[in-house]
Amino acid sequence: MMTHRPLARLTPLIVGTLVMMLASSLTGIASESAQNPPRALKVFISVDMEGLAGVATSTDVNPTGRDYEHFRKIMAAETNAAIEGAFRAGVTEIVVRDSHGGKTNLLPGDLSPVAQLIRGASTGPKNMMEGIDASFAAAIFIGYHAKAGTPDAVLAHTSNGNVVDLSINKVSLPEAGYNALVAGLYDVPVVFVAGDRAFVEQARGLLGPVEAVATKAEIGGGGISGLSPTEAQRQIRDGVARAIGNRTRMKPYKLTAPYTMVLKVKVDKPLYRNAVRVRPGESVFEHADLLEVLNAFNAMK
Ligand SMILES: [Zn+2]
Repeated sequence: MMTHRPLARLTPLIVGTLVMMLASSLTGIASESAQNPPRALKVFISVDMEGLAGVATSTDVNPTGRDYEHFRKIMAAETNAAIEGAFRAGVTEIVVRDSHGGKTNLLPGDLSPVAQLIRGASTGPKNMMEGIDASFAAAIFIGYHAKAGTPDAVLAHTSNGNVVDLSINKVSLPEAGYNALVAGLYDVPVVFVAGDRAFVEQARGLLGPVEAVATKAEIGGGGISGLSPTEAQRQIRDGVARAIGNRTRMKPYKLTAPYTMVLKVKVDKPLYRNAVRVRPGESVFEHADLLEVLNAFNAMK
């Protein structure tokens, strides 16, 4: 059995060491909170396909198309470039929403493991913005395209081939417009967009001087001329980092409630409850809740 003497001699040393350790850890906490507050910075990325670098035809973004597998890799690479840029700028958490077609284009294994992926079609009104809420500091759109009927645009359309025009409170909206409104409901600004040149101009017309990368432009009535995928990814990485750094310059995009939607379609669908058909191919719906307006849009589009 050990005597108590050696322990008694050691005790002041142990206590002294503990005091020093405690003091240094308290100093560490104090200086960390002064210089770099450990605060979550979350970013939401919605990724479509038509606006990706190199995409020229609808078969490029259709799972039955010959080159679809190639373009879904490019979709993942542009998304990963945005994720890298965001993390470089201090973002701590990223949620990626696959926003094209059946919403199963991004393969989970192709995406940077630091991001959380939301994939699969959802039935709710948020759709391409499924997962967004007030916890996010900024939203980013990658691979986006202009609205139906936009001249000199690549694969311009709104939601599906049946929509001629969607307007809310007399503002004609591309997908980027109503998705920005959904982010705006939670006071989240759109800080960066990537897609073809006509889309970028359209997005800036609605949202203001948002940081952007034009991946390509329409040429010759259906062709494209633009960046190589690698160069597009470099510009997206740098642009997103800059956009996150300057995120307070962009204001959330909002329209004033109540919202009046005018939906023009090629082929009429059954009317949503309380919607009014004003003439063949044109319906009106008004509601104080934007998400209910989007429910009506999804039902009648
Ligand atoms: Zn799409």
